[in-house]
This record gives sequence, structure tokens and C-alpha cells, in this order.
Amino acid sequence: MTDFAATKALFHIPKGMIYLDGNSLGPLPKSAPARVARTMTDEWGEMLITGWNKAGWMAKATEVGDRVARLIGAEAGHVVMGDTLSIKVYQALAAALEMRPERKVILSDSGNFPSDLYMAEGLIKSLGQGHELRIVAPEEVEAHITEEVAVTLITEVDYRTGRLHDMKALTAKAQSVGALTIWDLAHTAGATDVKLAECKADFAVGCTYKYLNGGPGAPAFIYVAPRHADTVRPALSGWLGHEAPFAFDLSYRAGAGIERMRVGTPPILALAALEAALDAWENVDMAALRARSQSLTQLFLEEVEARCPMLTLASPRAAAARGSQVSFAFENGYAAMQALIARGVVGDFRAPDIMRFGFTPLFIDEGDVLSACDIIEEVMTGALWDRPEYHARAAVT
Ligand SMILES: *Cc1c(COP(=O)(O)O)cnc(C)c1O
Repeated sequence: MTDFAATKALFHIPKGMIYLDGNSLGPLPKSAPARVARTMTDEWGEMLITGWNKAGWMAKATEVGDRVARLIGAEAGHVVMGDTLSIKVYQALAAALEMRPERKVILSDSGNFPSDLYMAEGLIKSLGQGHELRIVAPEEVEAHITEEVAVTLITEVDYRTGRLHDMKALTAKAQSVGALTIWDLAHTAGATDVKLAECKADFAVGCTYKYLNGGPGAPAFIYVAPRHADTVRPALSGWLGHEAPFAFDLSYRAGAGIERMRVGTPPILALAALEAALDAWENVDMAALRARSQSLTQLFLEEVEARCPMLTLASPRAAAARGSQVSFAFENGYAAMQALIARGVVGDFRAPDIMRFGFTPLFIDEGDVLSACDIIEEVMTGALWDRPEYHARAAVT
């Protein structure tokens, strides 16, 4: 049994706040400041350059990768940390396209996060080989997986609606026509009991500052299936992905397995914060997490629908068909979200009209859900959002 009251106690949630935005930026693990301070003073401060060996900094990217691997159902030794998610998307996509030189189509969907699509556009231009980024509606992805497709680039959980793609079915379909799959787990890692190895995914990428609580700008991860790990060519062939970085050869030779997906110097301070965040996952059973996430989102969805008829559900109604968030469409969604935030219920807004609420069982419980619903009901039925200060847009929504 996973003790979610115990995990809740591991996080700092500001007084009076119900934080339903862990899907954008997870809260501070209470142990992180001391962990980062220790890495600074005891390691950086005292060891200086010898920290790479003495404190094991060089091995952190794969060591931490193994801890993430358990949470996403990946084989140990096949996940590495580094860079940002956008960079990891580029790496996976470049590697996959090179594995299918005779095919020119990258298949994605209109629910994908723009950065993934932008990175694909940029790569297509750099390659100059006539690739096409084909974007279809989320429900139509399966029908569009044909023999023309080199690779599917799909974010498993839609960042706006929380709609969940069927990873197993889509991966099987792709494999039946010889296409490769890249799964973006940005809103999956730490939110569901995803099983990469069981689904036979080819590549996966994700970030660690959302449901994994690694802090703003925490390093991203990339997974390459064991069957491809020693043959993929890294497009971003940085020195730390080299077979022997400290041989300082003049030409590149790819490192063994997942090591080749490293690029440059790992962010040791950020990895220290992430390690503290991953401690909170040590005793978490991912099936229990998924069950609890589903019961929290279902409770929220039903309560809000019953109390706020002016909001239109934008997420799948069936718990099995969504990730760990619930979204509602509302014409004045931006102002409504500002009014909620002013009253301590923190979700976020995604254009054009989506009010988004994330539920992460590590620190949200039924009491939080019901208190949030009371405040949402008050704001919505009283139209308390309709004040000029709630309509003024900030840069980050
Ligand atoms: C959050 C998110 C990103 C962000 O990428 P960064 O490089 O970390 O800024 C990219 N893709 C998806 C699907 C996301 O949800």
C-alpha cells in the first residue's frame, strides 16, 4: 500500500493554497533545499573539479535515469537525463528518421504541444530531404499510421484536455506497418502507470519539472528501446556521448547504448534537486498512484459539473481515457482562473478557453478536491471573475 498522507508531508505547499498545477510545475520537496546546499558546499565547494569522480557527478545522468526508468516502465540502463525536453524531442526524431530513410512522413496530432511540432519543423528544414510533418486530429492518429509514416511523434496525454492516447494499440499499429514510435511523456511521467517496455515503444522523452517535481528547468530524459540502443546515431554528437570523452579524439564515435544520447556537461545542481524529488517516489506503487489519480479526477469532475453548469467539460468523461488532469472550457476562462488563483486555488489557463486543473496524488487528497470545488462554485455562480484586474493577461498563463 502506498501511503499518500506520508508523501503529502514531503512537499512544501504554501499556506492557504490548493495547488492544482503540479502538471505545469511540481511543488518544492522539503528535502530539496538542503540537498542542493549540500551539493554546493560539500561537493562543489570542497571537492571542486575532483567532484566529477569523488562525488560521482559523471554517473548522475544515468543513475538518475534509472530511477526515472522505474516510474515509466522502462528497462534499467536505457534512460538518460539531460538538456530540456525540446532538445530530447529533436534527438529522438533525428535518430528515428535516420532509421527509416525511405519514408518521409512524421505523424503527429493537433493535441501535441507546440514545441514538439516546432522542433520537428526545424529538423525537417535542416535535413532538407523533403520530410513532411503530418498533423491529424487526436482521434484520427491510428487511421493515419500507414506505410508512408517513418515515425509517430505523439504526446501521450494531451496538455490541454488530458485525453490519453492508447500507447499499446498505436505502437502495435505502427510496428505492423514498419513505422517507429516516439512517445512524449511530459504529462505522463509521474501521472500514470505507463509501461514503455511492455508497450514496445521505440523512443520516449519527457521532462521532470511537471509531475516529477524536479524544479523549474529540471533536466529532461530520453529512453531508447534496448533493441535500438547500440545502433541509433545521435544527431547531437556532443563529447559526453562519445565512446571515450577523455580520449579527446578529433572525431566522434558513439558511446555504448543510452550513453550516446548524452550531449554535454550534466546540470549537477539541478540533478541534486531532482534526486531529492525522486526520493518521494521511492515507496510509490505506480498502479496505486494511477487508481488514486483516477478517483481524485473523477470526484473533481463530477462535483464541478454538478455545481457549475456554465463550465463545459473538455476532458474525457471516462477516467481510463484521461491522464491526471481535468479541463473545463469557459469563454472567460482566463479571468475565472485569475479569480480562483486569488482565492488560493491554483490551476492554469491554456488558450483559447481552457481552465486546467492537475491532480497529483503525492500531495493532493479528497479534502483538497472538495475545498477547491467549494471555491470554484463560489467564483463561478457569483461571476466573481468579472473584474478588470482578472482580465489583464500576464506573460505566463
Ligand atoms: C511541457 C512540455 C514541453 C516543454 O519543453 P521544454 O523543452 O522542457 O521547455 C514540451 N513538450 C510537451 C509535450 C510538454 O508538455
